[in-house]
Amino acid sequence: MDQVPDLASIVTTVCQDMETHLGRGRVADYIPALARVDPRHFGIAIVTCDGRIAAAGDADLTFSIQSISKVFTLTLALDKLGADLWDRVGREPSGSRFNSIVQLEQEKGIPRNPLINAGALVVTDTLLEGGDASETIAKIADFMQRLADDDSVSIDAEVAQSEAETGFRNASLANFLRGFGNLKGPIDDVLRVYFNQCALSMTCRQLARAGLFLANNGVDPLNHTRVTTAGRTRRINALMMTCGHYDASGDFAFRVGLPGKSGVGGGILAIAPGRAAIAVWSPGLNAAGNSYVGALALERLVSLTGWSVF
Ligand code: GLU
Repeated sequence: MDQVPDLASIVTTVCQDMETHLGRGRVADYIPALARVDPRHFGIAIVTCDGRIAAAGDADLTFSIQSISKVFTLTLALDKLGADLWDRVGREPSGSRFNSIVQLEQEKGIPRNPLINAGALVVTDTLLEGGDASETIAKIADFMQRLADDDSVSIDAEVAQSEAETGFRNASLANFLRGFGNLKGPIDDVLRVYFNQCALSMTCRQLARAGLFLANNGVDPLNHTRVTTAGRTRRINALMMTCGHYDASGDFAFRVGLPGKSGVGGGILAIAPGRAAIAVWSPGLNAAGNSYVGALALERLVSLTGWSVF
């Protein structure tokens, strides 16, 4: 058994080390409601499998989790469909931008993986089957509240609306998928659910808590509830490692070495299997659409804790 690191001092160190980098990167401006966020925010929270919590910086400010929601909708879809999901979405890194449409044309409407936009739209479509958009949105929000153990987790209606007004690429992807027969629900409903799941508003502390089952073979270690099977947890972590940062997934694995998922709101959820879930947030993005300072902070954290899986 390795030594238990002093997490409180580690998050403080990471926070201090990030100070000179604050404001780097570019805030996502293709969703107008996100463009208004101050790029100088930085927060970090760690929740360990044995119940320790360490947080620093803006760990208690809410931000838009955006594509990090794809990890949680994937969890729900795998539980609903099992391995049948893989008939409709692949498991390979895309090597393309998060909202790329080119690959979808070449690969006949089967998205490369569930963590790019096209794949996430298919996942959302599977959740919608058998219910309507409002019920599905409520189910996702309820799942997040349960995982975060916090009823205050909610969807930011303004962000969802802002994305609905400007989400032309996602609408194109959805239409394309429908053209290939890989989207079954009404396109407007699929998009509505997708924009709402992306607009979930959470703090680093809530997000790390919500992701903790992924560090513990699918069981929430703090309330002993099984969220998903150990096998699916392994698969979700594998996909986060290989596909969680779009076309910069290899670079994230190289630098951080943890399964992770980023969102254009500037958040990253990372999983240290058997140990902890970590959430960082800083809104400035690098060219690939991942948090510039967030990735740097995780790199620093891993060097201080030795938590890389490699
Ligand atoms: N809602 C965003 C979009 O679909 C999510 C992208 C992201 O967070 O990477 O454009």
